Amino acid sequence: MSQVDTQLEELKSEIEDEVPSTISITDVKYEGPELVVYTRDPKEFAGDGNLVRNLASKLRKRITVRPDPEVLSSPETARQQVLDVIPEDAGVSELDFHEDTGEVVIEAEKPGMVIGRHGSTLREITQEVGWTPEVVRTPPIESSTVSNVRNFLKQERQERREVLERVGRQIHREEMGREQWVRITTLGCCREVGRAAFILNTAETRVLVDCGDKPGAEGEVPYLQIPEALGAGAQNLDAVVLTHAHLDHSALIPLLFKYGYDGPIYCTEPTRDLMGLLTLDYLDVAAKEGRTPPYESEQVREAIKHCIPLEYGDVTDIAPDLKLTFHNAGHILGSAVSHFHVGDGLYNVCFSGDIHYEDTRLFNGAVNDFPRVEALVMESTYGGRNDYQTDQQDSEEALIEAINEVHEQEGKVLIPAFAVGRSQEIMLVIEEAMRSGKIPEMPVHLDGMIWEATAIHTTYPEYLRDDLRDRIFHENENPFLADQFNHIDGGQEERQEVVDGGPAIILSTSGMVTGGPIMSWLRHLGSDPNSKLTFVGYQAQGTLGRRIQNGWDEIPVSDFGSGRSGRSSTLSLEMGVQTVDGFSGHADREGLMNFIRNMSPRPEKVLCVHGDESSVQDFSSALYHEFNMRTFAPKNLETFRFK
Ligand SMILES: [Zn+2]
Repeated sequence: MSQVDTQLEELKSEIEDEVPSTISITDVKYEGPELVVYTRDPKEFAGDGNLVRNLASKLRKRITVRPDPEVLSSPETARQQVLDVIPEDAGVSELDFHEDTGEVVIEAEKPGMVIGRHGSTLREITQEVGWTPEVVRTPPIESSTVSNVRNFLKQERQERREVLERVGRQIHREEMGREQWVRITTLGCCREVGRAAFILNTAETRVLVDCGDKPGAEGEVPYLQIPEALGAGAQNLDAVVLTHAHLDHSALIPLLFKYGYDGPIYCTEPTRDLMGLLTLDYLDVAAKEGRTPPYESEQVREAIKHCIPLEYGDVTDIAPDLKLTFHNAGHILGSAVSHFHVGDGLYNVCFSGDIHYEDTRLFNGAVNDFPRVEALVMESTYGGRNDYQTDQQDSEEALIEAINEVHEQEGKVLIPAFAVGRSQEIMLVIEEAMRSGKIPEMPVHLDGMIWEATAIHTTYPEYLRDDLRDRIFHENENPFLADQFNHIDGGQEERQEVVDGGPAIILSTSGMVTGGPIMSWLRHLGSDPNSKLTFVGYQAQGTLGRRIQNGWDEIPVSDFGSGRSGRSSTLSLEMGVQTVDGFSGHADREGLMNFIRNMSPRPEKVLCVHGDESSVQDFSSALYHEFNMRTFAPKNLETFRFK
């Protein structure tokens, strides 16, 4: 009998000792980080609301109780009973019974009403029917990404369970009990922005944190082939942790599966969905640009199948000597500051990922409060001594002024924006300005992936800023559903109608004018002096966006939608061009400093990464001078031993 089986046997008898003798325990298994307890008496189990909680704290495990398949009532009988327990207002849209595990997945418009106070309605469901309920939100805006991911996971349920069981046994394997140490190796993202990838290595465990590409430098990928990473074989990697879905952190995660990786990816649920959306788009863009992408959509599906979603604040065992906890990072939907606790109190390392320290319209500011932290790997994108951003309110007013001006001359405001994050923030600014009469009502058209990304945001309101979430939950007032927002899904014809119509605001991808529907809008509106191209995001060197900002007014445009590829002409730009600074998903220099200043506890060591050379150097020395901490601006391929 293997050591894990012995452990499970012991856990089983411990559980039997804890629960009343009327409850029989038939099996105990690991599925990923969770301990799954099978019982012939699920209804009795659910009868005592404290039972599972007490078990979890006694065994220090996350516990799921499932009915022994033999005692299950038929889905036909259970269906009506489940619906009878759930309040009508919950808006149940689907019930999915899985007889292999005794779970019923309930999709509802208001999951909170299915859960009930402290889970009371869920327990009532089990008491009534014996099945184990699981709840997901029906997206208020239909999202093909969310529904594709959910359908795919449903299809792959059996295989996914096998993955989880294997991962579970791996997590709970016996420690080798050698001497203990902790170190980090940098595989990318040092003195540069892009290709984020780090190895966190202990005597027992090897974890990869992020695996991104470098935008604009496709050949420069993280140093995955060194022995500390995949060089010794992908099977030597215990886990992958993904801080957020931006491609400079996630693009090459699917590639790991091509290299033979078969382990878990820990991330939040929205990060999983956004990673699916963005990596598939990454493949699409590569194909359109005639590049051979490093992997195929098959590997994106593998990655999604291997995701183990965690919520903020869940302390999760991911290896015998490693606990992971995610905290809100304030950067994009689902972005996480990742905290690792090594050994039994041996050491604590935190990866900031990308952060925004102050609250934005979309998100609460990044969490910087931890039980313990000795070392921090910290982003420094705007760590340079002059990297101060415009105050957010000033930026919003500048945008409002620009919109009013264009409205008066009956033109259109064309805003190139990233689909994820920036677009939703601008939507919130516009929605509020219209509601409060600061700008006149007019249609706001959303083109490209923006609508889809917005739909994903509305599926996960618990990841949004408190007051925004409350508006969506309690006041039934979802700003993203406001009437003025229109999804452009009719292609060129619909765009032509917008062009022929009155004043309007258009948000379109790509955010740096490097392709996508924004090119078509430029072709339509570029010669209209009454309209205005308004930049609200950073325009990288070499992009068309940056060139236009710098005053280019002769723009090459190809004949989009004409069916004749390769033809291009030149457009002389007569529309106004304006840049509104200050909208950012990143903390500026002050925000980064404040993150450390108010951090509790303050770490002993900080590795400044994710910034160009001067930013990381500046930031590292500022931290040293201001807080007298040991700071580093590592290069790629450096290893730091912390313990
Ligand atoms: Zn990011």
